[in-house]
Amino acid sequence: MKFRNFKVVSQVIFGRGCFNQLDEILSQKRKNGFIVFLVDDVFMNHALRHRIPRHSADMLLWVNVTDEPKTGYVDSLVRQVKEYSEKLPDGVIGIGGGSTMDLAKAVSLMLTNPGSATDYQGWDLIQNPAIYHIGIPTLSGTGAEVSRTTVLTGPEKKLGINSDYTVFDQIVLDPELIAGVPTNQRFYTGMDCYIHCVESLQGTYLNTFSQSYGEKAMALCQDVFLRPGPDSDDKLMIASYFGGMSIAYSQVGVCHALSYGLSFVLGLHHGIGNCVAFDYLEEFYPDGVKEFRRMMAKQGVSLPRNLVSGMENHKMEKMIDVALVLEPLWENALGKDWKAVMTRERIRELYLRM
Ligand code: NAD
Ligand code: ZN
Repeated sequence: MKFRNFKVVSQVIFGRGCFNQLDEILSQKRKNGFIVFLVDDVFMNHALRHRIPRHSADMLLWVNVTDEPKTGYVDSLVRQVKEYSEKLPDGVIGIGGGSTMDLAKAVSLMLTNPGSATDYQGWDLIQNPAIYHIGIPTLSGTGAEVSRTTVLTGPEKKLGINSDYTVFDQIVLDPELIAGVPTNQRFYTGMDCYIHCVESLQGTYLNTFSQSYGEKAMALCQDVFLRPGPDSDDKLMIASYFGGMSIAYSQVGVCHALSYGLSFVLGLHHGIGNCVAFDYLEEFYPDGVKEFRRMMAKQGVSLPRNLVSGMENHKMEKMIDVALVLEPLWENALGKDWKAVMTRERIRELYLRM
């Protein structure tokens, strides 16, 4: 048995208003160069814009996440930074949801590694350490703030750049930053965390490390979505972190595998894609799915339906391909003999319900 020796985020600051300490944190990293701020363009006309501690030489890049991050978009952002200065920046700061944080991770990696982001989709292909990078979530649930991956859609596949260098050097967890998220989006991304917990806790890869984080994250999600209170945003932010820590040492499962296919072919974002898939997975996760429906009713959220019926055959085949590539997810969910259970036909059947 070989154990994974995994890298974690080295520095974490947490608390309402802690975003105000960003300038101080950065002052220790500035070496006569400049900092690149990658910010979700949803904040373009928002007060947060004026709180970014931007010095005169710094670069502010608004990013658009209408589509989930693509390798081509990463390449173009890296080009813009290189055109801005001949020197490399002292830091790359991502401010936004999972998509923006993933873009910041990818840009920090691709500034020091040659070629296109597409070349590094996979496991441990990155050769050189990244630029110092910070993640600042404005939406909680994905666990992107703690993970060793940046999930990217390339021409052929949706697959992360997984490496120890991908992990943020610092994260800034300020619950005030998630206060204005619309209810539906908050639910979809929050359920990403809840589903991480269900899939981790019911998986065959589970160990005490994952279980401890997973159980606490799940309890926090239950508070947030069934018994909301004044500290719900604090709880959701920590749930996301703990849920991410849980899957770092285990794996996700059936829902995530199917959701990747939905994202690739239909362009659904990760959170909503998970919710669409999870609602039909009662046979795999009976308690989780029942509770998910209670949370959805309590939050007054509904899901899009009939997304797959009538889909052209080549698209369905592609969706099945994308889901099947994710072997560790299936193995975690169904055990070593998963291939006997989860055939192409079975996956098609599951997709056709959605
Ligand atoms: P997102 O980043 O895609 O953002 C969803 C929407 O919410 C966008 O329109 C965005 O502009 C908006 N938004 C963000 N913050 C807001 C705020 N404070 N107020 C109002 N609107 C706000 O959503 P997400 O669910 O956080 O992230 C999904 C992405 O994360 C996907 O690209 C997925 O692949 C990736 N992901 C990465 C990991 C990882 O470990 N790296 C894990 C899971 C998911
Ligand atoms: Zn997820």
